[in-house]
Amino acid sequence: MKALVYHGPGRKALEERPKPALTAPGDAIVKLTRTTICGTDLHILKGDVPTCAPGRILGHEGVGIVEAIGAGVSGLAVGDHVLISCITSCGRCENCRRGMYSHCETGGWILGNAIDGTQAEYVRIPHAETSLYRIPAGLDEEALVMLSDILPTGFECGVLNGKVAPGSTVAIVGAGPIGLATLLTAQFYSPAQIIMIDLDDHRLAVAQRFGATAILDSSRSDVVDQVKALTGGRGVDAAIEAVGVPATFELCQDLVAPGGVIANIGVHGIKADLHLERLWSANISITTRLVDTVTTPMLLKTVQAGKIDPKRLITHRFKLDEVMDAYATFAEAARTEALKVLIEV
Ligand code: ZN
Ligand code: ZN
Repeated sequence: MKALVYHGPGRKALEERPKPALTAPGDAIVKLTRTTICGTDLHILKGDVPTCAPGRILGHEGVGIVEAIGAGVSGLAVGDHVLISCITSCGRCENCRRGMYSHCETGGWILGNAIDGTQAEYVRIPHAETSLYRIPAGLDEEALVMLSDILPTGFECGVLNGKVAPGSTVAIVGAGPIGLATLLTAQFYSPAQIIMIDLDDHRLAVAQRFGATAILDSSRSDVVDQVKALTGGRGVDAAIEAVGVPATFELCQDLVAPGGVIANIGVHGIKADLHLERLWSANISITTRLVDTVTTPMLLKTVQAGKIDPKRLITHRFKLDEVMDAYATFAEAARTEALKVLIEV
């Protein structure tokens, strides 16, 4: 089968690989129909994710058809149309029983990281019953690819951890796919303001169409003053970091109001400064999280009911044969105006 393989920092190739086989009773083999590229894949390619060894097939998002199931799988059948969660969970270990699937003792974020991923014709999914979601008939596959990772990530790490509430004020730093997924799902709670901050004019224009109440160019030196002006001098109740670099995490520390939350979503590769000399008395919380995907069934229902349309995040479409072009397009988003690139397998 064809697969996109990581070969160490800065190196990847589309190659022929053996089709995966069932290795444990709980496994399923899924024939991919659609997958996508994540900002996290770019972090891997930068060398930020040491658990991902050269030779790994990348990708942790996708939908497909169950091709084979292990002897221990009873809740799925061959031919089922399924959504692949970026998080693999056994459903039984202590962390899974706490709803913290991201730290499953035999799972977590392993797909396209510690085990081969979804940017391929087929993928092996361990703990298939608790890591795949059957797709209700009639739902649009393209929209559902956004539910593998970015929607639950924006919602759980940004909106839920950020305690977004009716009437609250929110700043989302970073208007890439994750920031925009956060913007879409924050609106479930009717915050009074959602201020989107980014360097990229196109992404800010998209954010405005997606419901941002204000858009700010983060290259301007007065961005903190602008947020203060929009919030009566207070700052925001939730400052959500959706980039993953020190400067944006530090900006969140300048934006958060007393009593507020800094909710980190970004994948950070290097340390960032924490200004406790200013924040120690501000009654703030700082949260971090790897998405648990515990909200995936709920998000599926909101998409099914038309409450949100994540398909709006898709800007480009490619075939698996063109995956190298898809990476180039995604990696140069400022020039290509790419948000999510969909890959048909
Ligand atoms: Zn992802
Ligand atoms: Zn587990």
